[in-house]
Amino acid sequence: MKKVITYFFILLFNLIPAFAGWGEHLPGVTRNIPEPENALYLTLDACGNIGGKGYDKKLIQFLRDNEIPATLFVNSRWIDANPDAFAELAADTLFKIENHGVNHKPASTRGRSAYEIKGTESVERLIDEIVPNTEKITKLTGRAPTWYRSGTAYYDSEAVEVILTRLNMKIAGFAITLDAGASLPAAQVYEYAMMARSGDILLAHFNQPRSDTREGLKKALPELKKRGYVFMLLPD
Ligand SMILES: [Zn+2]
Repeated sequence: MKKVITYFFILLFNLIPAFAGWGEHLPGVTRNIPEPENALYLTLDACGNIGGKGYDKKLIQFLRDNEIPATLFVNSRWIDANPDAFAELAADTLFKIENHGVNHKPASTRGRSAYEIKGTESVERLIDEIVPNTEKITKLTGRAPTWYRSGTAYYDSEAVEVILTRLNMKIAGFAITLDAGASLPAAQVYEYAMMARSGDILLAHFNQPRSDTREGLKKALPELKKRGYVFMLLPD
C-alpha cells in the first residue's frame, strides 16, 4: 500500500508541472527504514571530485575495530583513481558497495543544478550517469548495486520515477547529513549524529581524510551503540 501511495505522488508531481519536485527528500527517496526497530544505516560517499584520490583509512579502520557496518556509495571516478582500495573495501563484508554515479551529477531530467553542479539534461543522460557505474561495480565485485544516490543527492520527480521503475533501483536519501560534504567541524558532526532516531539513514563522506568527519563519528557512533542502536547495512 505504501508503494502505491508513493507512486501516486510521483505520478501527481509529474502530471502537474507546478508540483514538479526538485530536492533531496522527494517521495520515493528513502530516508528512514522503519523495520527493524533501533537500526541505523551509516552511509559514506566517495564522490571522486577532481583530486579525489585516496580515502580516510583511519575512519575505515575505526569502523573495522568497532564492527560498525557502513554502506559505501562510490562514484566511477573514485573507483578508477583507487582500484586497490576499492577492491579491498568491496571484499570486506562489513561494507557494501552501492552506486554514486559516473560523473557525480544531480539526478535531473532537464539539466537543473544543485550546489552549482549541473544535473543530467534528459532521461537518457540520467541513465548514462547511473548504468555504467552499476556495470563497473558488478564487473569488479560480482554483485550488482541495488541502491543509487546521485551526486549532491538532488533529484527531480521524473528522475525518481525512472530510477525506481525503469532501472529498478532504490534511492538512498538521508535523514541527517552528518558532515555537509565533509565541511563541518567534529563537534557539529557529533551533534548531528546524536540526533539520529530509529531507522534513520545517516550520510557522511569517507573520501576526505583531511576533514573533521572522522573525529566526529569516532565520538558519536559508540555513543549511539550504547543508547541501543544497531548499525546495519542497507537491505538489498
Ligand atoms: Zn557525493
